[in-house]
Amino acid sequence: MQRTPLIAANWKMNGSAALVEEMVDVLTALPLTEHAVVVCPPATLLTRFPAVCNFALGGQTLSHEISGAFTGELSACLLQEAGASYVIVGHSERRALNGESDELIAAKLARAVAAGLTPILCIGESATERQQEKTQQVLARQLDAVYASQPELLAKSVIAYEPIWAIGTGESATPEQAQTTHAFIRQHLARYNTQSAVRVKLLYGGSVNADNFTALFRQADIDGALVGGASLKPAEFAQICLAVT
Ligand code: PGA
Repeated sequence: MQRTPLIAANWKMNGSAALVEEMVDVLTALPLTEHAVVVCPPATLLTRFPAVCNFALGGQTLSHEISGAFTGELSACLLQEAGASYVIVGHSERRALNGESDELIAAKLARAVAAGLTPILCIGESATERQQEKTQQVLARQLDAVYASQPELLAKSVIAYEPIWAIGTGESATPEQAQTTHAFIRQHLARYNTQSAVRVKLLYGGSVNADNFTALFRQADIDGALVGGASLKPAEFAQICLAVT
């Protein structure tokens, strides 16, 4: 099964109008395959990107509500109007720092799909959970919470495996560790729909950089990356994007 690769940039609460300009200059000079790259800047920067360019835009989270009295929240439609076609859902930082539960994440993902946004669902275990050999249990719980009751959403999703211990630490999972886990994820997803499990893009995230990405991308079940820190350096991010084009 040939899955087209995807590189996603997660700027988190970083970046600036100047970085947008720099990134646009660097990325538009690349021969990017259609739909191969998505940049998720802070929402206030979305409209600073050109309306048409050779990469897509995404939000970093969204509300599970459609609209209304939810001060500070952003709806799927607002993100879309600002130019987003993707949205990150359930990043571990939002799970930990904003108390996002599996149930809330399932509702957000459904809202994203209903609005026509492609959700990038983040899942991943902590260092303690890995040490206790609970990785598969945790990932299965995170996936079941979203897809067991709404399996049709899998065909519209991208999934990012991001071990929490690898995020922002400089300690990426090894290609073998990541592949073993991605293979488990794909196998587990087959419970919901075998065809969608084969087709869904599985990204790896956690200290991806231009040096370690090629070996990760060579693995059979790794279809791209969700890149944090290295996506704030246009030249390095361009190198990662070029590896999939
Ligand atoms: P990192 O972040 O690449 O800086 O580890 C990845 C992420 O949190 O999505």
